[in-house]
Amino acid sequence: MPQQADNSNPEPVSRLVPSRTTELLRSAATWLTDLLTPPVCLACSEPIQSRDALCPGCWSEVDFIRPPLCDKLGIRLPYATGDTMISAAAAARPPAYSRARAVAHYEGTMRKLIHDLKFHDRHDVRRLMGAWLATSGCELIADADVLVPVPLSRTRLLSRRFNQSAILALEVSGLTGLKVRTQGLTRTRRTPTQVGLTRDQRRENVRGAFQVPPKERPQIAGKRVLLIDDIITTGATAEACTKALYSADAANVDIVALAILADPMRITT
Ligand SMILES: [Zn+2]
Repeated sequence: MPQQADNSNPEPVSRLVPSRTTELLRSAATWLTDLLTPPVCLACSEPIQSRDALCPGCWSEVDFIRPPLCDKLGIRLPYATGDTMISAAAAARPPAYSRARAVAHYEGTMRKLIHDLKFHDRHDVRRLMGAWLATSGCELIADADVLVPVPLSRTRLLSRRFNQSAILALEVSGLTGLKVRTQGLTRTRRTPTQVGLTRDQRRENVRGAFQVPPKERPQIAGKRVLLIDDIITTGATAEACTKALYSADAANVDIVALAILADPMRITT
């Protein structure tokens, strides 16, 4: 009899009753929310079964980057050898950071979702993006002490009102428990947009454009940092951020991003 159990051990039961009530209220709230605003695909708004998800059609248009991967650049490799592999591009021109990982190529549904977040204030996509980053970056997360988002320039931050990389870092933090230093890196100067620039021009454009502010240095020195960004294009921004972190005595720098350019020319030109 439940009442006997209640009398024999009143404290756990007293906790059980509100928790059961809370559970029921939560289910009712979810049911009501689903009734009022049924879950839809984050990319095309088709009705689907669950929230923070994509319909099968949009999912199939995400070109997820799965192993075998180049351990340094995170790009897909044609075959697996069973060992840690480095692409010819990474061997020829090793990046400043230790390892990069990205969820998918910057095209199709991923490109649309990133545009929605950055330019259309679609913040409902961030939970799915956070989960994707935590999955694709799991090896790097296991080795990291702190998350640092790639910063926006002050003027871009004012016009956009938020830094998408900081939002993504906070999502990853919520899922992993890793601390975020949202001010761990700042821009030292405005940089013209990277769009349309070659790899070398991009490197020159962002050279010395980042710094660890003096008050953040104790939080970075000796730490294994995981940079968070939305897109790795040529890697020039990631490289400039990495150099700034090493100047502040970071022990290691890895980067995880939502997307990477599929075009292999990005690392050969
Ligand atoms: Zn869809």
